[in-house]
Amino acid sequence: MMTYDPSNIFAKILAGELPCHKVYEDDTALVMMDIFPQSKGHTLVLPKAPSRNLLDADPATLSAVMPLVQRVARAVEAVTKADGLRIAQFNEAPAGQTVFHLHFHIIPVYEGIALGAHGGGKADDAELAALAKNIAAKL
Ligand code: 5GP
Repeated sequence: MMTYDPSNIFAKILAGELPCHKVYEDDTALVMMDIFPQSKGHTLVLPKAPSRNLLDADPATLSAVMPLVQRVARAVEAVTKADGLRIAQFNEAPAGQTVFHLHFHIIPVYEGIALGAHGGGKADDAELAALAKNIAAKL
């Protein structure tokens, strides 16, 4: 199993060394907007405990984070009025993982609109800030 690299970009965001459009934070997790969203409202839930992905995570971390994933998914649905939500989590590069700190994707799906590419174009900062504020208000 590959080891955790503490210099990954999400570790830097968690440490406050890099900015993010924060939705929510508590002792165990951070929720933020994905800056290269696959659809409007694409949100990420990051446990604070360091692990590369699901495979090396402490089961206690997973137990703590899944209720938050559900809470955030409900808030994202309420704000975006999405027709469906995809919850995704990738393990290692061949499976699509690009940032090696465990995170869960909450990706709104809108009827008749194809999802954008994984890690596609950067979203407008003002739009991300507004989404983060509105989702936070529904939590
Ligand atoms: P993965 O491919 O590892 O499952 O997902 C990484 C996600 O992080 C991608 O959806 C990508 O758009 C997003 N991402 C990459 N760099 C940054 C960043 O600096 N800030 C935020 N908020 N998201 C990022």
